[in-house]
Amino acid sequence: MKRLWAPWRLEYIQTADEQEGCVFCRACTDEDGEDLVVRRGEHAFVLLNRYPYAAGHLMVAPYRHEGEFVDLTRDEVVEIHQLAAGGLGALGEAMRPQGFNLGWNLGRIAGAGVVDHVHLHVVPRWAGDTNFMPVLAEVKVIPESLADTRRKLAETWAR
Ligand SMILES: [Zn+2]
Repeated sequence: MKRLWAPWRLEYIQTADEQEGCVFCRACTDEDGEDLVVRRGEHAFVLLNRYPYAAGHLMVAPYRHEGEFVDLTRDEVVEIHQLAAGGLGALGEAMRPQGFNLGWNLGRIAGAGVVDHVHLHVVPRWAGDTNFMPVLAEVKVIPESLADTRRKLAETWAR
């Protein structure tokens, strides 16, 4: 396996269990979400992963702090998937990826960084990037800043 220098992963590993409260619950408030939230729905919202595996790595989460996938409501399930579909459209137009991985990591052993607020990953893919399984355990150098990505996606989505 290749080793890539990715300081944000180290920061993540060092702070994942130290941060106060839930990153999703914090992000969906206006003051904390400003720099990450791309799109807000009625029951769920879309944010950039602060520690992405690829540029444009989105996560779709319910507003409600829910750790059990099976306990999502019908409204949440439907809107999460509608927002994921919208994310594919915005990413497709703004960043021209050649494919996508969509997935749920349930439980730490499955790669979930946050286990008590379920979220759907939307990861754009380009030829020559890493395969999906290594993506879950490895890192990748990101050529674009989060702020640039967020602005580009939010603007594209709003059109
Ligand atoms: Zn939460």
